[in-house]
Amino acid sequence: MHVPKNVRTINTILSAAGYQCYIVGGAVRNDIAGIQPTDYDLATDATPSEIQRIFHRTVPTGIDHGTVTILLGGEQYEITTFRTESTYSDSRHPDRVEFSSSIEEDLSRRDFSMNALAWNISDARLIDLYDGVQAIRAGRIVAIGRPEERFAEDPLRILRACRFSSQLGFVIEDKTRQAAAGLCGSLTGISSERVRDEFNKLITGEYCAQGLFLLRDLGILPHILPELHRCTGVFQKGSHSFDVFEHSVYSCEGAEQSDLVLRLAALFHDLGKPASVREAEDGTLSFHRHEILGAEITGNLMYRLKYPKQTIREVLHLIRQHMFNYTDEWTDAAVRRFLARVGKDHIEKLFMLRRADAYGLDRRPLPLDYLSVLQRRIEDILAEENALSLKDLKVNGRDLMELGLPSGPLLGVILDQLLETVLDDPGMNSREKLLPLAGNLYEELRSRD
Ligand code: ATP
Ligand code: MG
Repeated sequence: MHVPKNVRTINTILSAAGYQCYIVGGAVRNDIAGIQPTDYDLATDATPSEIQRIFHRTVPTGIDHGTVTILLGGEQYEITTFRTESTYSDSRHPDRVEFSSSIEEDLSRRDFSMNALAWNISDARLIDLYDGVQAIRAGRIVAIGRPEERFAEDPLRILRACRFSSQLGFVIEDKTRQAAAGLCGSLTGISSERVRDEFNKLITGEYCAQGLFLLRDLGILPHILPELHRCTGVFQKGSHSFDVFEHSVYSCEGAEQSDLVLRLAALFHDLGKPASVREAEDGTLSFHRHEILGAEITGNLMYRLKYPKQTIREVLHLIRQHMFNYTDEWTDAAVRRFLARVGKDHIEKLFMLRRADAYGLDRRPLPLDYLSVLQRRIEDILAEENALSLKDLKVNGRDLMELGLPSGPLLGVILDQLLETVLDDPGMNSREKLLPLAGNLYEELRSRD
């Protein structure tokens, strides 16, 4: 396999000091699968403290389980000391990490045969003790050893199997699959962060629908995403031929693959549907109720999985805004208001979400001419550089206070009102027009109290 220069340098330095160095994990697997490796995991018999001594620039990123990051030529390389793993009493971390001097032992603790390959850089030889190459060629995910034991040791491996299926399009071999289905209840004991990291890789996989259907078919959904599980078997009237879960999966598939926020929003945009479909049958459904419910349910779910606040905020914003109903009757002021509400930084993604949602109806892209029309109108408005938020107004709070208005919440109300006026009529955005208007508004609001 092709070995980048920095990795060769690391190997040369370790060899000179009398240590072994192998490329392991995803890089070897991907190279054999014909996918250009992006990051190179390395394994060595040097202990973490020896690595820190030999290399000038290192970061102890995972020193407890033997991983050190080497900084070289502006890149980072994770290097892990060969280990054997013993019992995992909390299903999260091995109780003890024991270092080993043998690559063979290190490979035996790995999850799947395709991941238990090691490339010896010095003599350009592949170590393949578990028929990993054959598994890759056949597109099969096969646990090493007895799958029940390996999944009981670390249930995250169940989710990892689905994630690899989503990324590579591989099929999980029968025995491995049966063990995964039988043990998936133990995923509830896994830390949210580990689940989230694998889930993110799963939904940004090239074959994400395959991966998501595995979560359903193996019985994993109720344990990690009960909110999505509740969408299975829920059918909607109208143009939908899929249940809400299937529609969500295909919407996710229809969203830009590399865009995690968009894929999350597409997958979760209808989480409010099961409850609102029930309400519709009762006759108690209110218009657009499912967006509000959907955002609330998604917020709780993402909070539980410890997503960064910014990611949660963006996903919820898209879900809350996704059900706009554009018609030709929208005036320019209505388009400006819509743009102001969504925010110009989010508008493109919102359109992508709408297209993904439409793709999810029938698993094919729809023309959606009305969206193209709205998009063009928005481009025109953006080109005019009209005010769309408070910071674009030609007056600010300080100007109003200089006018003699007292600071306080009323100031905010007046500024909001000025923005409304300018959204209606961009010609109003000047100090000469807005300052007297602010004075009048103040008098009017004060006389009301
Ligand atoms: P990616 O391309 O996403 O980095 P990867 O296979 O390198 O895929 P990592 O999570 O980086 O996945 O893990 C590196 C290697 O460490 C794996 O290939 C596997 O051999 C081993 N490994 C990782 N997690 C586990 C686990 N939970 N149980 C057993 N082995 C694991
Ligand atoms: Mg890796």
